Amino acid sequence: MITINKTNQEWKKKLTPEQYKILREEGTEAAFTGKYHDNHDKGRYVCAGCGAELFSSNAKFDSGTGWPSFYEVAHSGAVELREDASGGMTRMEVTCARCGGHLGHVFPDGPKPTGQRYCINSGALDFSK
Ligand code: FE
Repeated sequence: MITINKTNQEWKKKLTPEQYKILREEGTEAAFTGKYHDNHDKGRYVCAGCGAELFSSNAKFDSGTGWPSFYEVAHSGAVELREDASGGMTRMEVTCARCGGHLGHVFPDGPKPTGQRYCINSGALDFSK
């Protein structure tokens, strides 16, 4: 359930232009350009918009795609999924359950134990060790 609601103007003040484009306009950063795809430190990944805990480094893996990739979320209910039919293909969009921000997409070709690949924009995340 979305409990953090801000106007676009409020989000623009809070976020960098890059964060705003991804979180609020469903943008995608170019592969291999984000700050976390090659981050191997142990820690927590939170939503850059609202600070909600989303992913743990424990579930991060090298997908080779150039985006931070995780096989599971930090806890159930952290994200919401919805079908995204834009761009001529049907994908599952991943959004932050707390603020509704766009994070990325999830695909059913991930590693064990879940088989899921959450493909997430670095720009939608903040990281803390
Ligand atoms: Fe959020």
